[in-house]
Amino acid sequence: MRVTVSVIKADIGAVGGHTLPSAETLAVVRDRVTRAKGRLLIDAFVCHAGDDIGIIMTHTKGIDNPDIHQLAWEAFLAATEKAKAQGLYGAGQDLLKDAFSGNVRGMGPGSAEVDLEERPSEALMVLLADKCGPGAFNLPLYLSFADPMYSPGLMLSEGLHDGFTFHIMDMDHTEGDRMIVLEAPDNLYDISALLRDTNRYAIEAIWSRKYPNEQAVAVGTSRLRNIAGRYVGKDDPPAVVRVQKIFPATEEFGPAFAVGPFVGGDTRGSHNLPLMPVPMNTAASTFFCVPTVCALGLSMHEGRLTGPVDLFADPVFDAVRERIADKAMEMRRQGFFEPAMLPMSELEYGGIVSRLRKLDAQWTIRNGAKDATPTQVEAVVHGDDPD
Ligand SMILES: [Mg+2]
Repeated sequence: MRVTVSVIKADIGAVGGHTLPSAETLAVVRDRVTRAKGRLLIDAFVCHAGDDIGIIMTHTKGIDNPDIHQLAWEAFLAATEKAKAQGLYGAGQDLLKDAFSGNVRGMGPGSAEVDLEERPSEALMVLLADKCGPGAFNLPLYLSFADPMYSPGLMLSEGLHDGFTFHIMDMDHTEGDRMIVLEAPDNLYDISALLRDTNRYAIEAIWSRKYPNEQAVAVGTSRLRNIAGRYVGKDDPPAVVRVQKIFPATEEFGPAFAVGPFVGGDTRGSHNLPLMPVPMNTAASTFFCVPTVCALGLSMHEGRLTGPVDLFADPVFDAVRERIADKAMEMRRQGFFEPAMLPMSELEYGGIVSRLRKLDAQWTIRNGAKDATPTQVEAVVHGDDPD
């Protein structure tokens, strides 16, 4: 059976700051979505990750279906009314457009969708991250789908041995978003070169090479600032990941997420802190909004969901969280100094840029020559490595 899994999420307001949605706003979304079960939807599940409400839906309408997207949009709109009535912080903050135009992409909410031919035992993982950008999944997904040190299935299973195709989005190109398709392991070093920059590049999809019709991963890569033209909150990407058999096993993702790579986001979306795996329905951290990700394990048959199992709630992740909390606290000790705060290029929509512009008149030119000095040119010509 052909089934579409759609995950759509938005921050429509939170309690006492950017923490978590109220029980009442969650109930509004849950009610709307539940009423669509058996009509538009086969099944659905609603939860939150930090201050974002995530809607997981299964249906047969395909990706980018206007009816599905409208259902989510209207659920978020209705929840925003409740959020306003409760005086929640940032009520409606991810709903950036006034009128629905057929697809939530480009309107604020994040979405990740996979259309698949259901396997007899369709095992899925839904990832919901908070306080970070779409590149936050780059390292864990790279390690799980391209590195045998973390993903032994690449060596041990014929289904994985041919590797995977990475679709990578350049989110900061001058002419708009652009996409490149690279194969692992053949283009591994090129994939690595791009994915290391999580602020600019993000995995949008991963496909099986052995079974070219089988999509493994979909990540929501929309950037709110590209929609709004200013900083309005971090993107907090959702992802759908198919697991087992021809894909990495659920447990092969654990060590990759336990790395806790530093990613951009956190307080005011302007800092680097490690991505911490947390149980679902965890409030955003009062410790400087350390970026978090939860993982829901689901089984699906004829579009009906069983689960979720809360994949980062197991006891091993208590130890992981302690270590990542140490990383976060160590980074925060250096306050605003880079790389604790993001580079200026990532702060262009923040107040610091206009503040620095005001200093322009006070600068005096001390050395007019911008070209490389002869010594530097010589070093390049003779192949010396710069420091
Ligand atoms: Mg959020």
